[in-house]
Amino acid sequence: TTTTEAELIGKHEVLPIYKPRDKFSHKVTYGHSVIIGGSYGKTGAVTLASRAALSAGSGLITAYVPKCGYIPLQTAFPEAMVLTSDSDVLISNINFDIKASAIGIGMGLGTAGETVLAFEGFLKSNTSPLVIDADALNIISENKNLLKLLPKQSVLTPHPKELERLVGVWKDDFYKLDKVKSLSKTYDLIVVIKGANTITVYQDKLYINTTGNPGLATAGTGDVLTGIITGLISQSYEPLTAAIFGVYLHGKSADIAVEDYGYQSLIASHIIDYLGEAFKDLF
Ligand code: AMP
Ligand code: MG
Repeated sequence: TTTTEAELIGKHEVLPIYKPRDKFSHKVTYGHSVIIGGSYGKTGAVTLASRAALSAGSGLITAYVPKCGYIPLQTAFPEAMVLTSDSDVLISNINFDIKASAIGIGMGLGTAGETVLAFEGFLKSNTSPLVIDADALNIISENKNLLKLLPKQSVLTPHPKELERLVGVWKDDFYKLDKVKSLSKTYDLIVVIKGANTITVYQDKLYINTTGNPGLATAGTGDVLTGIITGLISQSYEPLTAAIFGVYLHGKSADIAVEDYGYQSLIASHIIDYLGEAFKDLF
């Protein structure tokens, strides 16, 4: 048997994590995030994650999408650079010669056979830190042999259904946490169990987030979280620290934004717009 340590994460816990900007810094200081995902009709998820990565402080951002995502991305988000896969409608290959400081992958990706092969090829050659979300998690759940190709301390961000596909059904929350701790230890992974009180799990330690509200129960908020964590890793926050801090900032931004928008009308873009307010609370 093992002991589990749990820590509640609030402002007091994240204050020592937060790194102010250096006056003499340059965009290269803050790294280059790459966001890979999208398929026909689902490239908005990549726009959200890319905007979130840059608003979390990443110095540069490249979005990697199917060709159908090129114009939407360039139009909706002029700060991004955009690279495309060979296919018009899905990610059919993943090749780029950027030295990415961090990569977020999976939102809107789909699970087509060509995409699965492209993802597997990517994992075999990739050396950058990864944040794995959405359909990238679903592909891994269907092909468990891919788990051993993930870099050490990759961050996985499943919502409840994605977690169930990954670790199987659970009898109760204790059983669920045991399954996640075992996954974390076997493959040296950080697992962010998303929900009302998101729990970040690393080995036997649990970090229970205290920010956020039901306004987050809306389309695209998970894509924003993946972008934030990717953008923090690109600035040299350690992956575990980036996961804990990213979940906190995401919830804090929602708590501030909800005062202006209300629970029903909050949408994922607002979380990006209010990220600056969440950071300013730490100045
Ligand atoms: P996804 O399902 O991938 O879009 O992710 C949803 C995001 O919203 C995650 O970060 C969840 O933790 C958050 N979220 C969803 N519902 C709630 C809720 N009722 N209270 C707080 N956060 C929530
Ligand atoms: Mg999601």
